[in-house]
Amino acid sequence: MISRRSIVAHLTIAAFAAFVLCLAAQPAYAQRPVARAATIPSPKSVLGFTPGDDRTVADWSQITNYFARLDQASDRVLVQTLGQSTLKRPLIVAFISARENILALQKYKDIQRRLADPRLVAGKLQRDRLIADGKVVVTISCSIHSTEIVASQMSMQLAYELATAQDDDLREILQNTILLLIPSPNPDGIDIVANWYRKTLNTPYEGKEPPELYHHYAGHDDNRDWFMLNLKETQLITRLLWHEWFPQIVYDVHQQGSNGSRFFIPPFYDPPNPNISPWLLRQVGLIGHKVAADVQAAGFKGILTNALYDTWWHGGFRTAPYYHNSIGILSEAASARLMTPSTVTGEQLARSATRGMRNATEATTNFPEPWAGGAWRPRDIMEMEMIASRAILSMAAKFRTNYLQNFYELGRKSIEQRTKPDQPIAYLVHAGQGRDEAVAKLIASLVGQGIEVYRLDRELHVTLGPQVLQRTNSLGEKLGAYRMTIANAETTEVPLGCYIIFLDQPQRTNVTTLFEPQIYPNRLTAQGEAERPYDVAGWTLPLQMGVDAPAVTMIREGENERRLTRITDANQVRADLALPVARGDESPIKNPVKQPVRIGIYKGSTSNMDEGWTRYVFDTFNVPYSSARDADIRRGNLHANFDVLLFPSQRSTEIVAGNAAGSLPAELTGGITEAGVNNLKEFVNNGGTLVCFDAACDLAIKQLNLPLRNVLEGVRSSEFYCPGSIVSLDVDNKNPFASNLPTKLPAYFINSSAFATTGDGVRVIARYAKENVLLSGWLLGEDKLRGQIALAEVTVGKGRVVLFAFRPQHRGQTWATLPLIWNVLSNAAASTSEER
Ligand SMILES: [Zn+2]
Repeated sequence: MISRRSIVAHLTIAAFAAFVLCLAAQPAYAQRPVARAATIPSPKSVLGFTPGDDRTVADWSQITNYFARLDQASDRVLVQTLGQSTLKRPLIVAFISARENILALQKYKDIQRRLADPRLVAGKLQRDRLIADGKVVVTISCSIHSTEIVASQMSMQLAYELATAQDDDLREILQNTILLLIPSPNPDGIDIVANWYRKTLNTPYEGKEPPELYHHYAGHDDNRDWFMLNLKETQLITRLLWHEWFPQIVYDVHQQGSNGSRFFIPPFYDPPNPNISPWLLRQVGLIGHKVAADVQAAGFKGILTNALYDTWWHGGFRTAPYYHNSIGILSEAASARLMTPSTVTGEQLARSATRGMRNATEATTNFPEPWAGGAWRPRDIMEMEMIASRAILSMAAKFRTNYLQNFYELGRKSIEQRTKPDQPIAYLVHAGQGRDEAVAKLIASLVGQGIEVYRLDRELHVTLGPQVLQRTNSLGEKLGAYRMTIANAETTEVPLGCYIIFLDQPQRTNVTTLFEPQIYPNRLTAQGEAERPYDVAGWTLPLQMGVDAPAVTMIREGENERRLTRITDANQVRADLALPVARGDESPIKNPVKQPVRIGIYKGSTSNMDEGWTRYVFDTFNVPYSSARDADIRRGNLHANFDVLLFPSQRSTEIVAGNAAGSLPAELTGGITEAGVNNLKEFVNNGGTLVCFDAACDLAIKQLNLPLRNVLEGVRSSEFYCPGSIVSLDVDNKNPFASNLPTKLPAYFINSSAFATTGDGVRVIARYAKENVLLSGWLLGEDKLRGQIALAEVTVGKGRVVLFAFRPQHRGQTWATLPLIWNVLSNAAASTSEER
């Protein structure tokens, strides 16, 4: 959650010596000294190597030190510290532009704010003036995924090149654009990877990825947090981009696997998200083709467009811009082995297939010149990323007024009223649902990304709807439909204290995309198998969070009869709802587990994002736990330390075997082993509680011979497929694990499990609904899921096993199902203390 107070706190804490100068210069950009050092240090002169050299890596302190040096030496560069990362490293952004623009940043920030919100522009004359005066703001963000390390190194070279440029092309870029260069939105990960790389250099493990999450909680999912804003990094950068600078173009620099195309750049693959403006999709394609042409012209081969990556999902660094009327660009360079060169054979390329590319050796229109294979170096990656960055900046500079005008126009269309009477004009979020923490978090996420939310200070009379949401194609054929939970043509009174989110705001498409159910098109391969989406198919935020948020189609009160207060701060909502208010960095949420219980969360030798998100949720709710490592489980006598052992979703073979011997240094290999399995059996038989999420249930079912089987095991994707969607549960709320919950609950299903009994002794707490299972996303073969077990408890000896067939804490977003976890833990504590 973002609060102004905590950001101010971040700024004061982050008083790193190297940044004192630039921090002091922050409040008034215009006060920066004009005279600068004559020589601008090259990265090589500071680091001792050129970024991108084989087998070199700059860590975070080297990167921030270089940018601090550049800030001091160049009047084209101004570095700002945004705050601190999760593990307390400074998160920085470098503003790069012509000297006169840097001196007038405040002026351009103000222009951007107005262009982003046409309600702040007084007529056409002022609009034209803003467009004539404005600069295109471009964000380039490097290495959000830390093992995709090269871009973070590239950022220094790019900054240096722009700071020293004398040629006409780069001068035009400096004149017409303001670059917000983020060397990495995940500083902690840069150090995790750099330290690991140095440690393993010249060993058999050189170039391998570190066997730990490169973000403390999220790992790779740090690029799935951009509407939820769970992570500090997301919060800080979202504030920079969508409260302060409103970039017209955002370029997110990534790397992909080693053996396929050398470089992916948009246009993207299907399906497009229907809420993204077609103009934006065209601009994404146009810039992508410019990049592809420039990279190709520089002699690189293996450039791929229109493949694999799509615009369906929300929540990525480059997908969030689409819902802020901005252009999001992704590039994916083929990886080397961290900073070590690799060799790719023709055979490997021939075996590499993906959506939109049959293999990496065959020329097609979207892949016109395959690469023959051979040596692949970090330098290749860096050069392509440099060319792409220049191409994007050059487009921004050459078509400056076009980008500014269209950005403004998208905002203007967003604030227009709807055209059809049955279309929603707003969404309501009811307070007092008994889910106040979830309501507070939902509102904080919305406000954090710049969405306008109002509190009702007087009741409203509204018509709710629509009853059914449908999508049809241009022939009128039905693509899918959902029944909304609330259907009422009558006028309803909404009490004061509730929240309302109007659609006639610049972020209209963001609100729509977060609130309405997703209807993912039924996409099958020629063989009839499900075609895998790039990421999840459904994410409807109020559903995930279990918060009732009906659409409003009519409001009886006219505009001047309404009494509304704009919510600008997360703590304001918490105060409204009488929840404890955040102080500093501490999460203000009260531990919901009713009795003390010693919890171990299994953390194996392989990196597991589901484990990280579990810790995130426990830390956020202030539920104490410790990590149970492989060695702890192998050692046994688990009762001495734990009442409950929780296994986040992970394949049982991975839990038991861990990293294979020889693949990594010995201390990082091996899982819980057979000895650990036996210790788990003993733990449960003697009164312990074993809780398993999703894939980890398999371990308990098979090793403890539970009378259950996963009905989805081995089922082909032509018969059943559900890739990241929200499904409906029927809940037995007389069971203590489900007390205080509604009988219908939305749950997150991501290629998850469903159980049937094979014997007696299973207490079922929740089943997948008997009909209308899918609430948002894509579900192929619904009959396989109907009525099957979603949450069960089995007594084993003196203890018990609790099996969640789905992920109750997925990405820290599924607040609807978190109470199930807290109830299980509260009752585990009760049973443990009874037995003592
Ligand atoms: Zn990536």
